[in-house]
Amino acid sequence: MPGLSSSTKAAHVKTMPTTTLPMQHYLKALHDKYRPLEEGAVATYIPELAKADPDAFGICIVTADGYTYAVGESDTPFTMQSVSKPAVYAAALADRGRENVLRKVGVEPSGEAFNSISLDPQSGAPLNPMINAGAIATAGLVAGDTAAEKWQRIEEIMSAFFGHSIVVDEAVHRSESETGFRNRAIAWMLKSFGIIDGDPMPVLENYFRQCAIRVTCRDLACMAATLANGGVHPVTGKRAVPAEDVQAVLSIMATCGMYDYAGSWLYEVGLPAKSGVSGGLLAVLPGRFGIAIFSPRLDENGNSTRGIAVCREISREFGLHVFGLAPAPSRVLSRIHTALDAPSRRLRSPLTSARLREVASGIKCLSLQGELAFDGAEFVVRSLMRLASDADSFILDMHRVTYLAYNAARLLHEASGALFAQGKVLVFSRIRGRATVEDALRSSLPDGEKGFLSFEDNDLAIEWCENRLIDHEAVSGSRTHIDSLAPFPLFAGMTQQCLEQLRKRMLAADYPAGAIIVSAGNEQDDRLFFIRDGEVSVVLTLADGAHQRVATLSSGMSFGEMVMLGQAARSAHVHADTAVSTWTLSSRILDEIAIDHPEIKIAILRNLSLDLAQKLRQANQLIAVLAA
Ligand code: GLN
Repeated sequence: MPGLSSSTKAAHVKTMPTTTLPMQHYLKALHDKYRPLEEGAVATYIPELAKADPDAFGICIVTADGYTYAVGESDTPFTMQSVSKPAVYAAALADRGRENVLRKVGVEPSGEAFNSISLDPQSGAPLNPMINAGAIATAGLVAGDTAAEKWQRIEEIMSAFFGHSIVVDEAVHRSESETGFRNRAIAWMLKSFGIIDGDPMPVLENYFRQCAIRVTCRDLACMAATLANGGVHPVTGKRAVPAEDVQAVLSIMATCGMYDYAGSWLYEVGLPAKSGVSGGLLAVLPGRFGIAIFSPRLDENGNSTRGIAVCREISREFGLHVFGLAPAPSRVLSRIHTALDAPSRRLRSPLTSARLREVASGIKCLSLQGELAFDGAEFVVRSLMRLASDADSFILDMHRVTYLAYNAARLLHEASGALFAQGKVLVFSRIRGRATVEDALRSSLPDGEKGFLSFEDNDLAIEWCENRLIDHEAVSGSRTHIDSLAPFPLFAGMTQQCLEQLRKRMLAADYPAGAIIVSAGNEQDDRLFFIRDGEVSVVLTLADGAHQRVATLSSGMSFGEMVMLGQAARSAHVHADTAVSTWTLSSRILDEIAIDHPEIKIAILRNLSLDLAQKLRQANQLIAVLAA
């Protein structure tokens, strides 16, 4: 036999080790509930199918991120039959392109039985690829010059859908090939209309063989989950279907997947699905999960009776109908906060901070989430325009955006342009590594626009917006060269004499931009630093190796004070962002001074506690905002 594989490996599916999971319980209850449903009859027109156990019953769900839940006879093999049709259609679309496939096979529901000879009276094209006529034509369209090559292609796509190699049930294949006179007639009809080129019999044989591929309920759930996951098998991570063809396959399944029952199915269950005469049925909730049921008793339309009952119940109980799932557009906007609620970690002089606080509510950070398509973008743009009158700048936090449509990105750029015309700005934060969001923003830039501003995190974005306010509103005082100790808050309230005492024992230390002034973990260095000019950043290394800025400090501020509180090792790195000049004071020397002048150390410690209390308040406020 050409291309037949001899082994089936078990699907490498992640199965929860315990049966006590709520989801597993739910499926078990559903299985118990519908086991007594014994309506319908096993298909007998293919003699070999009549041997199926009418009581067999399995349900399996595979999520789009690869979790499997299985109950009942989920590992009992049966033949695919018509459930193979969407898979082979996907192969034909990928191999020949949509236009070429459409020329040979239509996309209209037939409203007739699966084995009807429904051909377009003019072109002879079968009405759709889910009835036998269309499926036989489709089997002739997949890549390959010979029937053997075409079979190889069919085998390849099936393996990709299941995550393992396939075997054909030879007895079922033979049984259908020996009795399938009607399908033989259909194949010759297709030949006479020029829908099949060359000898139609090898094509028909491939079709019979694809129907006889041996699967389990688990395999079909994997195939459904692959379609749910945009064409990529959620466990193997391998692509089975090009992303752009998945929608076409699901559309055909939605309109034609359940034969004569397709209309009622869409009306009641509302999920793209496909059934087969051996009792298999799979359904897809795009983006979420795939489900398969195996139960060989069929109703008058040739669909698994229990399969339909189970899907109907799950869909109704969980509200899964594809037309019922649209979340309200306001959900894309999860939170709005301002730089007054959560200022940046950049520390500024008391004067600048106070002035900044008066205007900080003009910096508005909008946290977006979920899918941003037409109405979601419309809602965000409308919110921006509504808030614009008392805003200076907007930050769109894209961290939780899962999808950004090209046109939605365009609308955002347009809103940005409109805001810019009013002297306001819009910047993005947290889009790094989010390929779909980044691509949409880049590819949708209006002509002549060079780019958009985006920041690694909200803190940097807020700082940038604060700097803008400081420049624009002349909220100044942040950059001055300091040549006495008086402006340092750590020395507030000290006499001139004391300051002079201290100044004498300090050393000057200058650093070029980019220098590391303090490295985390250092236990030798006991100096306090007083910035006279320039800026430094205090940076933590997080558990995952990423760096997180804790604060940016500038002239008039100090760092390294924690050594005075008995902390031996430095807790963070301090980098020079610009050229920096400092005065340093060793903690040991301060202790020496304190022997004769204890009031100096007392004053410093009091100022330090005031500063720590202020930082704690700010941290608490931030937590309150983030937890809201
Ligand atoms: N092999 C079967 C046939 O062509 C498939 C039909 C089906 O599952 N509905 O008759």
